[in-house]
This record gives sequence, structure tokens and C-alpha cells, in this order.
Amino acid sequence: MRIDKMLANIGYGSRKEVKMLLKNGAVKLNGQAVRDAKQQVNPEEDAVMVNGETVVYKEFIYLMMNKPPGVISATEDSQHETVLDILEMDDLVFSPFPVGRLDKDTEGLLLLTNDGQLSHRLLSPKKHVPKTYFAVIDSEVIEEDIISFKKGVILDDGYETKPAELKILKSGITSDIELTITEGKFHQVKRMFESVGKRVVYLKRLSMGPLPLDETLELGEYRELTDEELSSIQ
Ligand code: URA
Repeated sequence: MRIDKMLANIGYGSRKEVKMLLKNGAVKLNGQAVRDAKQQVNPEEDAVMVNGETVVYKEFIYLMMNKPPGVISATEDSQHETVLDILEMDDLVFSPFPVGRLDKDTEGLLLLTNDGQLSHRLLSPKKHVPKTYFAVIDSEVIEEDIISFKKGVILDDGYETKPAELKILKSGITSDIELTITEGKFHQVKRMFESVGKRVVYLKRLSMGPLPLDETLELGEYRELTDEELSSIQ
């Protein structure tokens, strides 16, 4: 790959800015200053330094966000703020996109990456990756709902859901629940509760596969996955 492309990809600036760095002799390839933007490099084998600092090349970025409400999980929207609008400029260099969707009013775990294969694996209906949600329901959730969700319920479009695990954390005038589903139909959690005559009034995703939301992240905060977290979902 060209050295200017590699450096631009990992956030050293635009191609133009990187060219300036090269021109000024700030970039070294295997110990030698390199000024030619077209210089080919092998990011895995060559040692590249910028201003005396070793460049660690990475192709992919993996971010975990605690999605705030009111923000759309899409890459662009003409009217509303998107999850990409929350990211820092340096992270945007990688062109990440959200792995699946959360509704505008849903909070919690959202992965963002530019690794299309990982995203595909996590979202593929064939992989049955479990997703666990915490929800507040507008009425009393009962044992019968646990049984119904386990069997599968019929959504408003006639779709029958796969077995899902419902845990009642608190039941009363309103209820707190946790629901684990292994598919990702549009508005699935809300529609499952609608099918038993109840309404979700608050929804937060707690986990995706083996990856739990880092509860120390405030709403709207995000961080890169640790190596351990990444290998757990690869
Ligand atoms: N189910 C929903 O209804 N909404 C979400 O955002 C995620 C799952």
C-alpha cells in the first residue's frame, strides 16, 4: 500500500497533510527518511515512524458505545443527529458504521466498526447471536408472558418469533424485565410486548453475544474494544 494512504487511513491527516509530513522529512521507513508519497509499504513488516514515533497500523476499528436516546443508529440522516456525529474526527478516518440498529429512543450497547465480515457474522440470522435487553414495561408482566415468549409469539405482520428468554426483575403497575432474543426483527422487543398487550416504555441493550455493555460508559461515551473483548466476538 502507498505510504500516504496508510498514514491517512490511521489518522495522520488528509492525503494532502500527509504529503506535507513526507515533504518535511517527518516520516521514516525502516530508518530512512521517505519523501515520496507513492512509496510502497507493507504495514505488517515495515517499520514506519512519524516525528520519531512508531506508527502502529491497524486496518479495523472496533468501538463500543453506550448509545444515548434521541440519536439515530445510521451513518447519515438529514434531520437527526446520528451515532457517527458523536465520534471524534480521528475515529471517523476509519469510516465505521453501526453493527445493526437500535431505535432512536433505545439506549445501550452499540458496536461500531469498519469490519464488514465481523458485522455480518454478528447480524447473520443463521448465527443466532443472543442480544439481551433491559426494559421497563407499562404494566404487569406475568409468568404467562415468560411461557409465551419461550414458545414464540406472533408479531403484527404474522411473523412467529424464535424462543426468547424473559426474566421478570420487578412486576407491578410497571415492570422491569430482561429479555434475550436471538434474532433482530425491526422493533422486535417492542413488538413482542405489543403481541401480549403491553408497551415498552424504556429500552436498553445490555449485551450482544458474549460482549456486555461497559456500564462505566456514560450515555454517548464510547471506547475501543479491548483485545480480549474483540477475540470473544471473533
Ligand atoms: N427491539 C426494539 O424494539 N428496539 C430496539 O431498538 C432493539 C430491539
